[in-house]
Amino acid sequence: MSTNVPDGLPDRIRHYIDGEFTDSADGATFGVLDPVTNEDYLLAAAGKKADIDRAVTAARRAFTEGPWPKLLPRERSRVLHRVADLVESRDARLAELESFDSGLPISQALGQARRAAENFRFFADLIVAQADDVYKVPGRQVNYVNRKPIGVAGLITPWNTPFMLESWKLAPALATGNTVVLKPAEFTPLSASLWAGIFEEAGLPQGVFNLVNGFGEDAGDALVKHPDVPLISFTGESATGSLIFANAAPFLKGLSMELGGKSPAIVFADADLEAAINATIFGVFSLNGERCTAGSRILVERAVYDEFVERYAAQAGRVVVGDPRDPKTEVGALVHPEHHAKVMSYIEVGKTEGRLVAGGGRPEGFPTGNYVAPTVFADVKPDARIFQEEIFGPVVAITPFDSEQEALALANNTKYGLAAYVWTNDLKRAHTFAQSVEAGMVWLNSNNVRDLRTPFGGVKASGLGHEGGYRSIDFYTDQQAVHINL
Ligand code: NAD
Repeated sequence: MSTNVPDGLPDRIRHYIDGEFTDSADGATFGVLDPVTNEDYLLAAAGKKADIDRAVTAARRAFTEGPWPKLLPRERSRVLHRVADLVESRDARLAELESFDSGLPISQALGQARRAAENFRFFADLIVAQADDVYKVPGRQVNYVNRKPIGVAGLITPWNTPFMLESWKLAPALATGNTVVLKPAEFTPLSASLWAGIFEEAGLPQGVFNLVNGFGEDAGDALVKHPDVPLISFTGESATGSLIFANAAPFLKGLSMELGGKSPAIVFADADLEAAINATIFGVFSLNGERCTAGSRILVERAVYDEFVERYAAQAGRVVVGDPRDPKTEVGALVHPEHHAKVMSYIEVGKTEGRLVAGGGRPEGFPTGNYVAPTVFADVKPDARIFQEEIFGPVVAITPFDSEQEALALANNTKYGLAAYVWTNDLKRAHTFAQSVEAGMVWLNSNNVRDLRTPFGGVKASGLGHEGGYRSIDFYTDQQAVHINL
């Protein structure tokens, strides 16, 4: 058993169905490991179809018979604000568990816990501000929109920043009056187990929130194929997204897909180089590089290319790799040995595809655990695998360009289209580039800070549909049109 285990953990991670913690119907479990020791520290219930069926039945009952969908937005909003208060008051504990379970640096896990609280606060406010369309044809007709919750929402989430990403789906799904079944990622089930206590304390009615742990191909698949789950909100890999799309097709479900990325950061010669270097270091090495919007391809204008590469590599070498529990750590341990092996294999591929200028494998002093040194490859060609494929770790490819046109072609030259970052002091170029780049989100001379009212999502293989602000409200509601003759 792992020796780093935080105090006060339950004896097992269980499902939470209809207001009760429960084991799997067949008693199946799986081991959950600590990414620093790679030893199992706890067993979690491994959900299957029977457990999903129970959870959906409870959620369906809470939807059809319970008070939640019929409450006034103001009443639901109060519960959501209490959730935000509770998450805020437990942020240190949440960060401790998240950091332990996922290997995220503790300081960054704390920031993610606060973002989770903010997501609840934001949707608690938004739902009471919600206004719907009314159209009047003078003397003839009034038409209005009657917005309704849809039913049981299936929420399937990944292991990177798990608690925060769960909040991003839970908050709007609940704010709009749906009931939910959450299937968190099997690598990181620990923080999700705290939701049950938080919701109970906040006064969410029984059966509104249900949680089934387990593997994607069992619990996730059963949720996607359950006929009484009309909505699936999924965040994860693009390949999983396609499979879920196909599996949900016979049921004509509402789908929201937040998928993978290989986002470019484009640095023009006129940019503030210091700011661009700091931001692009943060953009790929924060959250261990396990970030969907990571700027994992940096395109640099030839005039400043050599200087950029030299300064960037030096700075990457100064990024502090360490124990996730240490507040000074900037890159912790990757989530799982399988993922670590995948990232390390890309580093080996990279050595044949580019010029290694920083990192390149396991950092010195870390013979065990899922540690990877911040790794930088320069002179990477656009057809290289490390330019095209999502690595999802602290590894970045740098490529030079000679013209704005070439930069745009390079930026768009992957199957993904989640985010893009542009660094230039030419305002007009910044805007024209932003509008032409194939990305759902663009940051100009800035990094990942965003207003929760804006759309969040990708184009091409990075996703389908947008969440964020009123787009989330739209996804989780039906807009029925009612027409009255005058
Ligand atoms: P993943 O696709 O392997 O798994 C995500 C979730 O889907 C897990 O809960 C898993 O159990 C479940 N799942 C797997 N197979 C399933 C199936 N057949 N049916 C139903 N559910 C299934 O992804 P991951 O490795 O956990 O997460 C990393 C990926 O997520 C990266 O590609 C990253 O870019 C992406 N991501 C995207 C965003 C975004 O907002 N666009 C945010 C975070 C992460």
